[in-house]
Amino acid sequence: MNNLMENDHKMDDQEKRKVYSYWAALLHQKCPRCREGDMFKDKNPYHLNALFRMNDKCPVCGQRMEIEPGFYFGTAYVSYSLTIAFSVSTFVAWWVLVGLSTQDNRIFWWVGINGVLMIVLQPFFMRLSRVIWLSFFVKYNQNWQTESEHI
Ligand SMILES: [Zn+2]
Repeated sequence: MNNLMENDHKMDDQEKRKVYSYWAALLHQKCPRCREGDMFKDKNPYHLNALFRMNDKCPVCGQRMEIEPGFYFGTAYVSYSLTIAFSVSTFVAWWVLVGLSTQDNRIFWWVGINGVLMIVLQPFFMRLSRVIWLSFFVKYNQNWQTESEHI
């Protein structure tokens, strides 16, 4: 009887623990290994002086955030791809919602608005690039509590 109750408690605990999906973990800047710990010390990317201030290790599972010195140089590729993907999306959205024509300067409005959006979203993108980059190397491990980290 006692055992049963303990099991119930365990189930409750697991349900209470909020484990994000891959995409939600990216958006919330969570550690890719446990998807619970925060990668950055300050959650708000718009506190610019703390933009790249990361935890050395994940506060939840202990995964190192910088696998090797200079690890995050590779994020340039990710942020480049993000920028392209974002611009393509806004371009398509603009095309569908506003329309494009060679007769007027609607295309230049898109260039301007897309540019402003990219500047405003830059801190978010820069962090997102780091989170995506780390997630290429560190895979989610449901059993992070019992299994040791690989990298
Ligand atoms: Zn973690």
